[in-house]
Amino acid sequence: MMARLLDGKAIGARLRAGLAERIATLSFRPGLRVVRVGDDPASVVYVRSKDRAAKEAGYDSETILLPETVAESELLAVVRRLNADPAVDGILVQLPLPKHIDPQKVLEAVDPAKDVDGFHPVNAGRLAAGLPGLVPCTPKGVMHLLAEAGVKLSGARAVVLGRSAIVGRPMAALLLAADATVTMLHSRSRDIAEECRRAEILVAAVGRAGMVKGDWVAPGAVVVDVGINRLPDGKLTGDVEFGAARERAGWITPVPGGVGPMTIACLLENTLEAALARRGKDELQPNGGVAEVQATPEQSYGHGPGLA
Ligand code: NDP
Repeated sequence: MMARLLDGKAIGARLRAGLAERIATLSFRPGLRVVRVGDDPASVVYVRSKDRAAKEAGYDSETILLPETVAESELLAVVRRLNADPAVDGILVQLPLPKHIDPQKVLEAVDPAKDVDGFHPVNAGRLAAGLPGLVPCTPKGVMHLLAEAGVKLSGARAVVLGRSAIVGRPMAALLLAADATVTMLHSRSRDIAEECRRAEILVAAVGRAGMVKGDWVAPGAVVVDVGINRLPDGKLTGDVEFGAARERAGWITPVPGGVGPMTIACLLENTLEAALARRGKDELQPNGGVAEVQATPEQSYGHGPGLA
């Protein structure tokens, strides 16, 4: 069996186009501010892509550039200014930050209502408790992909490989909220290959090129590869041995062009949700969706239908 490709590039583009249509009907432009400290090459690329996508969709987007040497107190002052600015709906501080700055302190300084990355402990806690809030963009994007593939999540055996605060943990929380039976694996887990073979949905978010072997994939499983790893020749590759896994899976995401484009689209979705929630235009649904379009049962993934 040759897996069908879950094309995040196309699905993300559709999601962004839908957001642009919504924004064209609004009397205001949702405001996004991305703060970049220093010139980390990957951050330069990511921040540029986010800004471009936001502008294309009609957002009021600005990037705030601070030097590598900026004091932590100055960065915190910038965040507080953005918190207080009524034109700003979403704030994102691009990680990683220079070593002399405590990232947790900075993330916790962001107003949870403007925390479009969903990294503030208030939003993480709300997600864990099944309450409405802003949901981290990457796992949210994965839920969109699963919905797009028509994957039935209720009762499905899902395995999440990786337990970081930005991908693995919120991913598991979203799958659980959608009634999947979730197993989380990490560097101390035993029998990882066996655990993966039991998965109907396998999400890999480890950061190790090709760690998930083709024979770890159950026939027909849905494989979502979050990993982005740079090979010595400069090419990007995921955490999954793509060719071998594709021969067994039912659906699989490519790297690049799978989860990555969904992350940016969901940042824009979160910014619109934050803007509407702050302005009281919509009631937030459990875990961050807005009450506009009702998802069909197969599409429902626990944090509301989103705006797609
Ligand atoms: P982290 O390094 O924060 O977390 C990696 C996780 O993998 C940890 O929980 C770690 O376990 C686990 N792990 C590491 N080695 C092993 C192993 N040998 N066996 C089992 N588990 C292991 O990474 P992130 O979550 O931030 O990112 C993961 C990947 O996803 C990276 O490649 C990153 O580039 C990519 N990414 C992609 C995004 C996108 O938009 N597509 C967005 C964000 C990330 P432990 O906790 O025990 O240390």
